[in-house]
Amino acid sequence: MNKVTTFAMPILSVLIIAACGGTVVETVDDTTTSITDDDVQAVDTSKFELGTSSSITEVSCTLSNGESSTCYSITINGFPSDRTELGPFCPTTTTTEAVDAGKWFDDGVLYDLTGEFISKLDIFYGDSNWQLYDENTKEVKITDTQTACEAAARPDVSAEYNNYCVQCDISYYSDTDGEGISSTYLIPVTPVQRSSAGSVDRSSIGVAFNGVVLDAAAPTEDILSAYTIAAFDDCVGHVNPTAGYHYHGANHGEGTCPGVDFEEDGHGGAFGYALDGYAIHTMLDENGDEESDLDTCRGHTDDERGYHYHSAGAGENLFIGCFTGETAR
Ligand SMILES: [Zn+2]
Ligand SMILES: [Zn+2]
Repeated sequence: MNKVTTFAMPILSVLIIAACGGTVVETVDDTTTSITDDDVQAVDTSKFELGTSSSITEVSCTLSNGESSTCYSITINGFPSDRTELGPFCPTTTTTEAVDAGKWFDDGVLYDLTGEFISKLDIFYGDSNWQLYDENTKEVKITDTQTACEAAARPDVSAEYNNYCVQCDISYYSDTDGEGISSTYLIPVTPVQRSSAGSVDRSSIGVAFNGVVLDAAAPTEDILSAYTIAAFDDCVGHVNPTAGYHYHGANHGEGTCPGVDFEEDGHGGAFGYALDGYAIHTMLDENGDEESDLDTCRGHTDDERGYHYHSAGAGENLFIGCFTGETAR
């Protein structure tokens, strides 16, 4: 096959693609792989196993470079089709153990959000203002009503919810099937390479085969500056009022979220598609090794799979480094 993988020199660019509504994807300063037509595989919608009230249709779309194209319009309700319940998220007391609580991440590391972790946040962050639990009862302060979660799960956290462990129950946002919030994402049927890599800073990243959005990075600075922890479950997902349940990481190191199997040749399995139409595979292969030739977007090419991404670590607050392909406007 005509495989030509070259690496362009980093190009500093401040070009901002003009917005026509929808997602704005900025060009980033990046080293990207050059992808030939042979390296491009069309999206295989049979890999999706979506829950009820979800659908995939083919629609006309405009890509971020202005080209007309055909996209899959994927409507999901956000509840993972491979699970029956979400959570646990926040620990209830300062003695709650890992099995009964979720996760938090910081500086690339995924931590068990145990009661002990909550009780030592002042030490962890070197700031004595952290106090997420009641000194007397040892109960963790949790946003346990819809009003509380909505006041706390936004960038400008209400002052009264400073020093809370934030969690929102999916039942607040359930549709008639009781599963969450309906969202629609466009993915090009066949990926089109961008002239220069696209930023993932302000965009959802993709859709997992189980019907959960791979979301943009969690705004941890805003969260921490309000002395809140927006607790994840063990799958690095949580619920907010706008997206419903969504992922901020793929936890394949110790768990299997989103669900995935290794491929026959031992290569990391795909668990979803990025919004540019390239598949996202697990970070590690069957032997626990990471691919050594990933580009800045965390993608590479092989004969079997064409160009595809490998997810970042579960605590990195990202899935891929940038978009190699055009996304839909
Ligand atoms: Zn989130
Ligand atoms: Zn690979």
